[in-house]
Amino acid sequence: MAKPRISFEYFPPKTDTGKDKLLSETTPALNELNPEFFSVTYGAGGTTRDTTLGVVSTMREAGIDVAPHISFGGDDEDTMAELLQTYKERGIKRLVALRGDMPSGMGAAMQLVYANELVEFVRDKTGDHFNIEVAAYPEIHPESKNYDSDVQFLKKKLDAGANSAITQYFYNVEAYFYYLDQCMAAGIDKPIYAGIMPITNYQNLARFSRNCGAEIPRWICQKMEGYGDDQESIRQFGLEVVTQLCQTLMDSGCPGIHFYTMNQVEPTRAIYNSLGL
Ligand code: FAD
Repeated sequence: MAKPRISFEYFPPKTDTGKDKLLSETTPALNELNPEFFSVTYGAGGTTRDTTLGVVSTMREAGIDVAPHISFGGDDEDTMAELLQTYKERGIKRLVALRGDMPSGMGAAMQLVYANELVEFVRDKTGDHFNIEVAAYPEIHPESKNYDSDVQFLKKKLDAGANSAITQYFYNVEAYFYYLDQCMAAGIDKPIYAGIMPITNYQNLARFSRNCGAEIPRWICQKMEGYGDDQESIRQFGLEVVTQLCQTLMDSGCPGIHFYTMNQVEPTRAIYNSLGL
């Protein structure tokens, strides 16, 4: 069986210490696992513009294949074109293109640009230079009108020139497989990589999942809540659940796994090792 494509996602650290740790400790450790690429998220409304650019540039200088996430946020076309040019000059060949969300407090001050329009813009300005990933939602984007329209909007992003998609994380494996079937039926033939979130801090995960529309199945919640403050049991159970999820995905021919590392080595490395990758 071919090894699935593996990629690792970071968020841009808020402090210099966090940035140093990410670049000098976390990245070399995760890079030993031979990912195809790393990606670095982009804060809504350009709040992390410089940090994302800085982290991505330093990683690229170290010879690592890294993809910045981009979204228009409140930026105009000139600013976006300039950012794309900067990434091109710094040897970046891959992007994750997103609409992003409205930063809190922005109200109606900002008009979000859908990801399909951003993909069109990138292709228009830079041709085939970048390999473009977009986001996909097996449990459906929280603002979506209905299931089928969300699948159609994914198709629109891919038809606009994106090469492949990475999913929001999920723990219901059936939702991913059903989604793949629905996408295929809608005429999508590009790879849809599975986004995987290791389970470490249950309370944080539960809060985040409510906002992004990812469901934590009841049996997992019940088990986690039963552990209370016993972090070691949460870690061990989380490792078993997510390893099993990844194994099922790989056994079923999933094209690859994108780990939401949360800038930590151990949770992702433990899953990776348990899978025997
Ligand atoms: P879109 O694909 O534009 O879709 C947004 C919503 O609008 C959906 O409900 C869709 O059904 C609908 N829609 C899409 N196109 C149209 C259209 N043309 N007309 C009408 N309706 C439409 N957030 C960040 O802030 N920074 C990040 O770095 C980041 N990285 C992410 C990486 C991945 C792999 C994933 C899965 C998500 C990421 N997110 C990130 C979260 C993402 O920004 C949010 O989920 C956001 O709400 C939607 O972005 P999108 O690109 O999926 O939007």
